[in-house]
This record gives sequence, structure tokens and C-alpha cells, in this order.
Amino acid sequence: LGIDAIARRAESLAGSRAIVGYGADGQARRSTWAETLSRARRLGAALTALGVRQGEPVATLCWNSIEHLEAYFGVPLVGAVLHTVNTRLSARDVAFILNDAGSRVLIVDETLLDLAEEARELAPLDHVIVVGDRLPAWAVGYEDLLAEAVDEGTDPPRIDERQACTLCYTSGTTGNPKGVVYSHRALAIQSLALMAVDLHGIRESDTILVVVPMFHANAWGHPYAAALAGATLVLPHRDLSPGNLLTLIERHGVTHTGGVSTVWEGVLQLLDAEPGRYDTSSLRILRFGGAPVAPSVMRRLEECHGIPVVQGFGMTEMSPMGSMAVLTSAFDGASADERWAQRAKQGRPIPFLDVRARNDAGLVPWDGRTAGELEVRGASVTGGYLHERGADSFTADGWLLTGDIVTIDPHGFIQIVDRAKDLIKSGGEWISSIALEASLCTHPAVVDAAVIAIPDARWGERPLACVVTRPGAHPTARELRDHLAPEYPSWWLPTRFEYLDEIPRTAAGKIRKADLRAALPVESGDDRQSA
Ligand code: ATP
Ligand code: MG
Repeated sequence: LGIDAIARRAESLAGSRAIVGYGADGQARRSTWAETLSRARRLGAALTALGVRQGEPVATLCWNSIEHLEAYFGVPLVGAVLHTVNTRLSARDVAFILNDAGSRVLIVDETLLDLAEEARELAPLDHVIVVGDRLPAWAVGYEDLLAEAVDEGTDPPRIDERQACTLCYTSGTTGNPKGVVYSHRALAIQSLALMAVDLHGIRESDTILVVVPMFHANAWGHPYAAALAGATLVLPHRDLSPGNLLTLIERHGVTHTGGVSTVWEGVLQLLDAEPGRYDTSSLRILRFGGAPVAPSVMRRLEECHGIPVVQGFGMTEMSPMGSMAVLTSAFDGASADERWAQRAKQGRPIPFLDVRARNDAGLVPWDGRTAGELEVRGASVTGGYLHERGADSFTADGWLLTGDIVTIDPHGFIQIVDRAKDLIKSGGEWISSIALEASLCTHPAVVDAAVIAIPDARWGERPLACVVTRPGAHPTARELRDHLAPEYPSWWLPTRFEYLDEIPRTAAGKIRKADLRAALPVESGDDRQSA
């Protein structure tokens, strides 16, 4: 099991389907799987010639492009480790990650040369390989390198399936990002699972638009699964604006796509604003995941715009997909509201993944009510972090502690209640910050919301809600509480509201709750009187 087997399957389907990759200039380049893999093998040969050995990381700082796809295959095919780096980090953070991983070769898109140049001063790099025409003296050109290399055919070095294949850092939402290593086997299993469960499966006739940035583990499934099926990939480079995504969906007849909620909320707004302008009828599935998803966004995309949606859950450590909320036949006769309530959960585990949840009383029953920390074990779960960091995240018998508090229902559907670090414990009960955030965002005057715990002398902790309101709108704390009241018990309603210009988010679009906690009042101080 491994990348070579995936590559050989795509090569056997040579010629018929295309890969469409956009460049920095917005121009599309077309390639077949056979051409892409031949170039990938040349990249591998070139890296070997530069002195890269088996097990050594090769970093990429690239957008969603054909060259990045070539690296997805070329690097692991010669036994080196593909290390994708987040393009939205600061130079200091990029350097931290390059140093931490020991990556000394970097493939960089020409639009990110300034970031690379700055990072290079803080992290020793032996070779910088530039994709594009700009070529500083300290770098070599990607095309020049490939021109000199030969594709030695489909006989690469034999690689053990347990060998390291890729390396990705977690988002750093709750602390310093941690390096997660994946084996060839984990990625093969993950790609097969994705092919099977991505609603209706992925077929050769499908066209997949890769919207999740390819530096993120969340993006890995689709390119490898597409190769297994011989499906078409559309790689949009860096323009992920709603208008561009809708144009690409229409132009290429995209059948599968996905990503975090924030991207698709923008798409939804554009579809609402200009009904009938874009044709999205080719879409068979839009998959949400990687961060909390507002159920209202899913439902409107499907019911108002005819785009079938599904939600999944994942984390870097799970390579990364863990579950998908595809309804079972048990829901055939259920009402629309019941079906949506079920689909708002994160779903059943993917094949070859075992799940359970545990709280202080032991393993929790699958009753859909009792909450506990999710533990996972299986072929696509990482064996560990780089430098033995986070060793305490594994039980003695190999279960990974996810740090996510969940319930599991009798249908086997997982529902994320909150991260353990963000859960609000009030008077011996828990309050889910992500549930309150989703509900606050359905208020017409609210554009973004974050809920955190603040210490409270009487209850231990109380929820504080930070809201960003629409320009000109000033909802009072009472109005916001009234908006939440029909959905929640009274003790869930936030004690305080803070009005912010912006919610601080990580490069992956997740709320920086630690920053909010540090910046906001330390006492809950009830503002109900003043509201
Ligand atoms: P770090 O581990 O460095 O603090 P991170 O956990 O944000 O960062 P990722 O691996 O990118 O890094 O994110 C995984 C986490 O994202 C999950 O543990 C979960 O908390 C959250 N998540 C993923 N998908 C969903 C989803 N569909 N709904 C709610 N939360 C989700
Ligand atoms: Mg995490």
C-alpha cells in the first residue's frame, strides 16, 4: 500500500482525463495523469540528484497547482517525506516549522518568494526550488531542474508501507503546531475510504475542485483519491474568492468539492445575491469539514440552490478524515427536520477507524446524550508526533486522545460538543461554545461570533459571547439572549456580550480562543441589568 501503487493506477488510465491547473497569472494549464506522474517521477529523480535521501523531508510553500500535485507524488515516490507548509503563516512561523522538521529543501511558488526569503534567514536551507519565472540568485528554477532529470520509469525504490510518506503540522489552534507524520499505508487507506464514502463514491467521470489549501492535511484526500479513480482535478491556485469558485464549477462541470464553512458562506451569499447567474447543477457533493459548520449554511445551499452537501469531521492526526454524516436507511422515513438534525452531526467513522468516547465514569454509552472525550484508533491514525511531542495523547493500547468532547448516538453518529479546552463548565454542567456560536450567527445583525468561558465565583465558569455585528446594526445583549432563548436552557445564555470589530482567527480560519481569553475580562460580571 502506498503512493507508488496509487500512481501506477492513475498511469494505467493515461490520457483520457485531464488535470487543469491555474497559475499565478490566472492561465490554465492542462495535463493528463500520465504526464503529471511522469513529471512527478522526474521531480523525484531531481531531488535524489540534489542529495535528498529516503526519510528526509522536502518542504513545499505552494498554492493549489499542478506543480504542488507533482510534489504530492514525486517526493514520496523516492522515499522522501512531503512536508507541506501553510502559506498564510508569518516568516517566523514558517522558519519555526522548517527548523522543527529539519526540512532543508523547499519548493516555493514565485508569488511566495518574499516569505521564503525572510524565512530562509531564520532556517538553513540547502536548496530553494522556485515554481514560476522569477528566479533570485539563491534559488533554482523548478522547470530547469525537471528539464535535466530523467523519468526512470515505474521502478522507483521499494518503499515499506509503514515508512513516513508525508508530514503536516496541526493548525496550532490550541498551542504550538505539532508535526504529524503519516505512513504510505495511512494515506492509501484514507484515499480508498474517501473514494468509497464521499457520497456516491468518486468515479473516473468525476471532476474534483480542490478548494482546501493543499498545504493542509484536509486537502490530501481528494488528490490521491482522484488518482485512484483517474478522475479530473481542477486546481485553482490561490484565488478562492466566491466568484472564482463558482466560475470554475460551471466552466469545468465540477462534481465534487469541499472545504471549511467560511469559504462556502461567501459562495452562498453570492448565489443569494445573483440567483441564476452561476450554473452549479454539475455538483454531486460539497463536503464540509475541518472546522465547525453552521447547519443553516448547509441547509440553504442544498434546499435553496440545489447543491447536495455533507459534513465530515477530521483532524491532522487522522490523515485527516475521521467521519462523514451520510444518512443511513434508518432515516428513510424521517421528516426533513429530523434528517437535517442528524446531518448537522459529524457522522459515522470512515472505514477502518474505531471510535469510542470516555468521561470520568468510563466509556460513554452510545445514547446521543452522554458526553466524553473522543478516542480513535485505526489504519489512518498517525502513529505519533515528531520529536515524541504529545506522547501523552495516546493510551497504552494505542488509542489517540483527540481533545474533542463528543456524544455518539445509537446510529453511530458522532457529534462534536466542543474542544475539551473550550467547553464551558458551569455549575457542574457543560455548555457548548460552538453550538452558541452557530446560533448567534443566525441572528440577522451578527456576522461572526465566538464564545469563551470566563471564571465565575458562583458557577465556576460562565459563557461570554464576542460578536461582530453588521455595520449600522446594534443588537443589545437582551436581544441576543432572546434570540438564543428558544433553543437553550436559560443557564446556557451568555452572561456577558462583548462587541468586537473582528474575531481573531488562525491561518486555517479557526477562532483563537486563547487570545480572546487573554484579552477579555477575567470576571464574569453580570451585564443583564445594564442590557
Ligand atoms: P492544534 O491541534 O494545533 O491545536 P487544530 O486542532 O485546530 O490545531 P487541525 O488538526 O487542523 O488542528 O484541526 C482538527 C480539529 O478541528 C478537530 O480536533 C476539531 O476540534 C475541529 N474540527 C474538524 N472538523 C470539524 C467539524 N466538522 N465540526 C467541528 N469541529 C471540527
Ligand atoms: Mg488538534
